[in-house]
Amino acid sequence: MKALKDKLIAALKKSAADLVACGNIDRMTDPAVKKLFPEAKTVICVAFRQLRGTRRGIEDGTVFYQYSTSVETLEEVMIPGALLRGCAVLEEAGFEALPQKRQLLVSNDENTNFEVDYNEVFRNTKAEVTLDFEKCARDCGLGEIGLSGSILTDDFGPNQRWGFIITDAELPADEAVTAHLCDNCKECIKACPGHALSEDGKRDSWQCAAYYKGANRTRNPFMPPDAFADDPERLAIIAGVADLTPEHAREIIDQINFYPPNKHAFVASMCGRMCDAACYVHLEEKGVLKRKFKTPFRKRPVWKLSLEGK
Ligand code: SF4
Ligand code: SF4
Repeated sequence: MKALKDKLIAALKKSAADLVACGNIDRMTDPAVKKLFPEAKTVICVAFRQLRGTRRGIEDGTVFYQYSTSVETLEEVMIPGALLRGCAVLEEAGFEALPQKRQLLVSNDENTNFEVDYNEVFRNTKAEVTLDFEKCARDCGLGEIGLSGSILTDDFGPNQRWGFIITDAELPADEAVTAHLCDNCKECIKACPGHALSEDGKRDSWQCAAYYKGANRTRNPFMPPDAFADDPERLAIIAGVADLTPEHAREIIDQINFYPPNKHAFVASMCGRMCDAACYVHLEEKGVLKRKFKTPFRKRPVWKLSLEGK
């Protein structure tokens, strides 16, 4: 089976995948894997780097749509294409192979998906089997789950997106990763402009959705002076210190129309995805990432406007 694994990896890399990690079925802790394919023997995690340059606009506050459209291209074009190619290699060898891309619009009843419009989120989750993408990536051996909940890899830190192939081919497993990157520095938590991550790293998805879309005025150059004028908590909201209920978060999100909406499913990341940016900067400064650049990612102090938007 090593020859088949080599052939599969070659096909995936030809489809621009950066990292491939194979996990034996016995290592998979997410029960959804077996629900999806009871005969599965191997889960293959296929990851693509998020180019550092696509973060430049949200890092420097110059342009905001490049980041989300690049993520969407990975999620909706590159990853599904590579997964289909990989599945074809396995099916050519007589095995069944299920591609699994992230189902961006599915959430559980209480939460939302902060990367998309909450109105688009499908909530009848009882009828749908979905993988826990972070847990499965870790179990495949792609990387570790950091305090922020993001997958961290030696190659790219928190900067990758990924999908899976579940197959009944018994491919040689890669080694599981022992967590070694996240040092509990909490830079991810401190960096969020909407305090959406609690001290234990748990993400409040509605709080995150409101601030991802730009509720903090100090991080949103497009916010007009009268934004949220009728909200009694206006000052706390624009300062990023309000604690939002899901209902309040929805009211705020409905009023955030300051930046031209993407003509895609993903909303622009006005928060700059600062949790992951801070993590990347931290790991880069520690010198623990394999992929080196000639210059550091953070080239200037983190920008911040006043509460008056200046
Ligand atoms: S910023 Fe620090 S605490 Fe947060 S995930 Fe990264 S290494 Fe872990
Ligand atoms: S920095 Fe942005 S993506 Fe990260 S938790 Fe905060 S609002 Fe959400």
